[in-house]
Amino acid sequence: MKAVTVVPLVKDSLVLRDMPKPSPKRGQVLLSPIEVGVCGTDKDIIEGKYGAPPPGEEYLILGHEAVAEVVELGDGVDNVGVGDIVVPTVRRPTTCTLPVTELDYCPRGTYAEHGIWYLHGFAAEFAVTDSQYLVRVPKEAIDVAVLTEPLSIVEKGIDLAIRLGKARFESWSPRRVLIMGAGPIGMLALMVMRLRGFTDVTVTATRPYDSLKAKLVKEIGATYVNTNVDQISGEFDIVIEATGSTNAAYEALRHLGADGVAVLLGIYLDSKNVNIGPLLDDWRKNKLIIGATNASIRAFEMGVSDLVKAKFEFGGWVRKLITKEVTLDEYEYAYNWGHEDIKSVIQIRSL
Ligand SMILES: [Zn+2]
Repeated sequence: MKAVTVVPLVKDSLVLRDMPKPSPKRGQVLLSPIEVGVCGTDKDIIEGKYGAPPPGEEYLILGHEAVAEVVELGDGVDNVGVGDIVVPTVRRPTTCTLPVTELDYCPRGTYAEHGIWYLHGFAAEFAVTDSQYLVRVPKEAIDVAVLTEPLSIVEKGIDLAIRLGKARFESWSPRRVLIMGAGPIGMLALMVMRLRGFTDVTVTATRPYDSLKAKLVKEIGATYVNTNVDQISGEFDIVIEATGSTNAAYEALRHLGADGVAVLLGIYLDSKNVNIGPLLDDWRKNKLIIGATNASIRAFEMGVSDLVKAKFEFGGWVRKLITKEVTLDEYEYAYNWGHEDIKSVIQIRSL
């Protein structure tokens, strides 16, 4: 079978390779991936920054964001059937002892992750995974379900922001929301906040006011600010940082009002020293800062449910977030997205 592979830690070793078709062991299923999303994590792996192959192997199949069809069941599988469309979660415990619903809190080194650490990913004609970590996708959401994995992290962050914000004092009632970044994470955060009933949402990026990103932000009733030209004004009750830049993360806190909650969803590999002096002000104003990475199976389920709702509320808007779609043979182009792109996807097969 064809698979998109790298030799982990070897820069630019990305290649479409013929790999043996896997077969499901007890408790596993064989998946036929339909679409696989690519993101900054894949780019980091391609650049040789991190990642590891399955034990005893040289190559790692990429792809941790997928929607797939179940095509074969291993022994003992009864929670899904052949023909089901599913989204696989990413993390599997190795020595982590936390329950299945809390794997996102496993300490480093106690887990494997499909397409990243020690487990093959889904950018291939076939893949195997444990059946208990699959989330079923209803037919209304199949065409956007490839967004579920990045959405799961957004769901986790926003759910924590609202629950922990209220845990401090019941009458906390956030109204103004700032989302920094209009990539897939920022756009999905916008989608979730609009579904949660927030009407005062501002999204910032550095694209022009006539760009696709600006247009999509306005299309579902939010305000767009091009920070190359304009300043963000006022203070916000919830700030979601989705650019991955440490400077932006720091800026996020500057726009957070008293009693506000900040959610940091970016990947901060470029962490430079920042002056933490002004953070003392955050403490004086009862601010809460939440970091979220990886997500539980519950957050994936929330994601699928919100994709169904979003298709109902916003129609074709959700699918417009997928701005680049290539075939498996064109896989290289998927990893070269531009500033105007939001989500880049490899279509492995048609439905
Ligand atoms: Zn990703």
